[in-house]
Amino acid sequence: MSTQTSERVESIEHLDFTPECCASIHQGDRPRASYITDQHGCGGGPLCIACMKVGRQRFNEIVVLEGAVNCFACKQSFRVFEDCVQVTPL
Ligand SMILES: [Zn+2]
Ligand SMILES: [Zn+2]
Repeated sequence: MSTQTSERVESIEHLDFTPECCASIHQGDRPRASYITDQHGCGGGPLCIACMKVGRQRFNEIVVLEGAVNCFACKQSFRVFEDCVQVTPL
């Protein structure tokens, strides 16, 4: 796992700014993001700690209720959050 993410982590470290949380579910003032997410090429972006927590909770709730989460873009189904979304801490 670490070998797969090292290239991405290095490229993030070259950013000279910290992006703001971009989550549509975010309420109130937008803090600096703590994570960069990549939804297997179908989306993603910078997220704050709270939105990451909510997103992960919602994912797991849908898996419990419906058995899997279907990507809105590519229609792949996922049962494990980490398989669907690659998370890089900033
Ligand atoms: Zn947020
Ligand atoms: Zn997808």
